[in-house]
Amino acid sequence: MGSLLSYEDAIRILCDSARACPASVEEIPLTESAHRVIAKEVRAGFDVPSLDNSAMDGFAVRSCDLQSGWNEFPVSSLKIAGDLPDTQVREKTAVQIMTGAPLPQGGFDLIVKVEDVGILKDSTGGTLIRFESISASAAHVRRRGSDFEKGDLLVRPGSRIDAKAILGLAALGCARVVVHRKPRVALISTGNELVPHDQTEVTEGAIRNSTAPYLMQALRELGCEVRNFGVVRDEASEKPEEFERALKAALSEGFDLILTTGAVSMGIHDFIRPSVERNGGRVLFHKVAIRPGKPVLFSEFPGFPETRLIGLPGNPVSTVVGVDFFVAPFLRERFGIPEPRPLLGRISGTCPSAPPGFKTFFRAKAESRADGVLQIEIPKGQASFMVHSFSGANGWAVIPASGVPGEAGGIEFFPFAERMDA
Ligand code: AMP
Ligand code: MG
Repeated sequence: MGSLLSYEDAIRILCDSARACPASVEEIPLTESAHRVIAKEVRAGFDVPSLDNSAMDGFAVRSCDLQSGWNEFPVSSLKIAGDLPDTQVREKTAVQIMTGAPLPQGGFDLIVKVEDVGILKDSTGGTLIRFESISASAAHVRRRGSDFEKGDLLVRPGSRIDAKAILGLAALGCARVVVHRKPRVALISTGNELVPHDQTEVTEGAIRNSTAPYLMQALRELGCEVRNFGVVRDEASEKPEEFERALKAALSEGFDLILTTGAVSMGIHDFIRPSVERNGGRVLFHKVAIRPGKPVLFSEFPGFPETRLIGLPGNPVSTVVGVDFFVAPFLRERFGIPEPRPLLGRISGTCPSAPPGFKTFFRAKAESRADGVLQIEIPKGQASFMVHSFSGANGWAVIPASGVPGEAGGIEFFPFAERMDA
């Protein structure tokens, strides 16, 4: 096993290569920025709220005018949200004020809630309020800058914009944001046995191309634009022409990533590596000590410095492992998105045997027990062609190449949703 590259070394090579070629950026309207990755930090350009204002419907008074016991104040004016603050309000009066309205200037620092006052008329028909003394700790005032102060960091590079981020950015008047350009991915499937997934009549021995529709969706969820180059045939010849035609087209069109499935292992038609090398590719690794997905290949193209190729084995589970543990880290590194940390849990029931020396990825179901411990169940049916055990699973349980950790150590668990949210 000694000669096989470890997963950790492979990821280091892949990330170094991704870093050497960061994604370019573009400026887009905030309202079209959902799911995009921030390339330039955004800071608050001003204080929010911009003025001290009322947190309640009620009456603004000056705490220095308050007496102990009962207070009575004539109401001198009315303020609603959107008004400018009053500048000249008489002492020992109250200003009727609605939620969000600016506090009058001149020491008005307390809001008495409308529920806490009695409203009376004075002898001239004017309004008076009457209330029992209140404490300054119940001021019901929203201070200027108490939400955001000018200069506060709103979003940092590498964060993905979601609806909640849009809320804060919109509150700060941010109309446009600088984001990474979406990576463009070319997808090439290989295999004579493959038929389109929606073909109704198929000959015996045909295999439905399930991974192309999966990859189209998974890559979109990872923030990519995907072009499907279709299926190329396995050819025994020295030069598999269909594949090389597709490869050359993808290279000349400047895709960020070319993703292939199949033909990357030890079969007599496994032409990906020789074809990549014949077309100027420099293979940085081929075969990694993982299960499933060992034959994964990663290549740069010195003649096309922006393009990388990841060759994934054709078995569906190997393809999914390849997306979650090679393609997603590659994209995260390009975007500057931090790596998600795994949860740690304990295996309940039996753990299928994991081959020593290989980092092994099991489809698993994790649940928090009442005592807070994450309990991981690994169902049967873990072979790399078996798709059924994805249903019911909610993540990957990862067994290190060194074997199942002893009693003290936990098992790493990577929730599916988080990987896809990268
Ligand atoms: P390969 O990596 O080309 O040796 O393929 C390994 C296994 O995966 C074979 O059983 C293939 O039929 C199967 N396979 C290859 N590509 C696909 C695909 N796109 N969808 C489903 N199964 C596939
Ligand atoms: Mg094949």
